[in-house]
Amino acid sequence: MEDLLPSDDESGIPPFEEWFPPPKKDFRVCSRSICPNPAEDGRQACARCRAAQERYRATGKQKVKMKRHSKTEKYKAARQRYRQSDKGKAATARRTAMYSVKLAVSLQKMLTGAHACPVTFPQLGVFKTNAEVAAHFESTFEPWMSHENYGAYHSGDDYNVKWNIGHRIPKAAYDHSNPEDVKRCWSRANLFAQCARENAESQDKAPIEVNQLKSVWPTGWA
Ligand SMILES: [Zn+2]
Repeated sequence: MEDLLPSDDESGIPPFEEWFPPPKKDFRVCSRSICPNPAEDGRQACARCRAAQERYRATGKQKVKMKRHSKTEKYKAARQRYRQSDKGKAATARRTAMYSVKLAVSLQKMLTGAHACPVTFPQLGVFKTNAEVAAHFESTFEPWMSHENYGAYHSGDDYNVKWNIGHRIPKAAYDHSNPEDVKRCWSRANLFAQCARENAESQDKAPIEVNQLKSVWPTGWA
């Protein structure tokens, strides 16, 4: 019986192993329903479909549609499921942690007069201007404190050498995903100039004057 497969003759037909080259590793077809084009590098859709999507987005119709969709029970149920999932909970925790850091950075910038255009604290209704922040902390100064010895604690620093922003009830006691808790945590009543070393050592400890701070207790305490 004759061998039907061409071998290394001079017919020009490549050897059988080369008839079916392996698919390119990163090849993917456009994700838009029936579009057969290859997707753009690193994208889901092909260039043509992406351009069409962009044109549609520019009409603003998508926004209107999403707004309508966001009011449906189906969407609300899906959001709810997501929020209660591990992934959703992790996302909320990440956002919340970032918010607390953002507030701390913003307040520090206001205190040192370095904040050109504060937004967060005026929005919270606590401090409107950098000067208000400086005045508030001054009002809580101990005799040895001044704006010159404001600074972060470095291990080995002594007591009553530097001060920084202290929370009478620690930040960690508040739920930063709850706007009311955010207000209370970052309220004037809860913020004071604190010895930097003391601050570093008193993390997450209850303050002595906790009974007098009832108005700014975390909402979960009441
Ligand atoms: Zn396409």
